[in-house]
Amino acid sequence: MAELNSSSKVIEFFKKLFFVDFIKGLRVTFGYNVSKSITERYPDEEKWVPYRRFRGVHNLWRDEQGRELCVACELCSKICPTDCITVIPMEDDTGRGIADRVPKVWDVDLARCLFCGYCEDACPTTAIRLGREYEFASYDLASAVLHKDELLLPQPVPESFKGGVHARARFVRDKDGIRVEADLNNTRKRKT
Ligand code: SF4
Ligand code: SF4
Repeated sequence: MAELNSSSKVIEFFKKLFFVDFIKGLRVTFGYNVSKSITERYPDEEKWVPYRRFRGVHNLWRDEQGRELCVACELCSKICPTDCITVIPMEDDTGRGIADRVPKVWDVDLARCLFCGYCEDACPTTAIRLGREYEFASYDLASAVLHKDELLLPQPVPESFKGGVHARARFVRDKDGIRVEADLNNTRKRKT
């Protein structure tokens, strides 16, 4: 036992003498310096385009005739584990919805949402679907609450696209200002 202790002390002495641990640390540091960067330059140079089954911001859908699919049954708000959906029903026989009952209020609080998809699963009319929008940062909690009118706006889904990829970002200028969009002609597979 005493021999073992003395030999490990000798090893420790030589490790300190030749800066072995220091050199090991430097090797890791320099290794990262020369390895290829995996940092995503989001959003100025690159954007992530989510895969089809990604669960992002909610959408309320209409049927082919443009009628609202939501019948304000409140199943989504009942099943929601974080109680972040508010549905207030009202009677409407103008043909706005597929039934005479439509939501007067349909709000979702994204600050509390888990994006679990339970609301989507519970919906009997497929009115609510989680879309692919993931850029919804806001400066205050009130802006994190989305209302029915915003949720009824269709979200663009590129049909040709399969799977999650990184895409080169491009600046688009229109009447609303400048925004950064993904260039779907210039993509690479995401490293997992
Ligand atoms: S995704 Fe989940 S947490 Fe979010 S609103 Fe739907 S049920 Fe609630
Ligand atoms: S979205 Fe679906 S589950 Fe929620 S209130 Fe409307 S019809 Fe019912």
